[in-house]
Amino acid sequence: MSRTAIVAGNWKMNLDRAKARELTAAIAARRGEAAAVELVLCPPALYAETVGTALAAAKSDVALGGQNMHDKASGAFTGEVAPPMLVDLGCRYVILGHSERRTLFGETDAIVNAKTKAALAAGLTPIVCVGETLEEREGNRTEAVVTTQVNGSLAGLSPADVEKIVIAYEPVWAIGTGKVATPQQAQEVHALIRRLLAELSSPAVAAKVRLQYGGSVKPDNAADLAAQPDIDGALVGGASLKADDFLGIAKAFA
Ligand code: PEP
Repeated sequence: MSRTAIVAGNWKMNLDRAKARELTAAIAARRGEAAAVELVLCPPALYAETVGTALAAAKSDVALGGQNMHDKASGAFTGEVAPPMLVDLGCRYVILGHSERRTLFGETDAIVNAKTKAALAAGLTPIVCVGETLEEREGNRTEAVVTTQVNGSLAGLSPADVEKIVIAYEPVWAIGTGKVATPQQAQEVHALIRRLLAELSSPAVAAKVRLQYGGSVKPDNAADLAAQPDIDGALVGGASLKADDFLGIAKAFA
């Protein structure tokens, strides 16, 4: 089963508008270096229009994504971003349940599940993040934690919806720490996630779902991760803020 690799940049709460424009233009100009890979830029929501405009000006097929959203389409939710607003700005993807959302903003699997359903209803492709903490890994609870997160975040999805999503396995201990999971550790969890998806839908559907690894991915460790059979791309934080690094990672998946 051949899956188109997908590499997404999570810019988090970084850059300003001028730098967002500059980075977008630099990536769009060199997009051909990783033509076979789907690329997604996830800027802060306030800069999505700026990045979308820069991509359109470059006639680029690099996709735009949000980093989070509310599960309601509108209403009295001060400070929140609604799924149709992301769509309105040209977003095709949205990161959901990032570990920073789960740990710093109290997002539970039930919340991630509601957001996943809302994203699909709005026509967005959710990039659903799961991953264990260091304490959970050291306590041999990785499989249990990831199983609970996948089943909880995707509860009630039809096989047709499961087929549309992207899952990012991001061990919390590897995010922004410089500690990357070994390709074997990552592959083991990706294979587990694909088995869980097969149980939730069917083996044929699970074989089509793209699974990204995230956690200190850099150009020099991306190739070993990309060589694993169940790793179909990367969700990149720090290294996505530099065009050279982001494209270097994307090339490893080409
Ligand atoms: C992330 O935040 O999704 C991430 C993977 O960050 P980093 O690449 O900086 O570890």
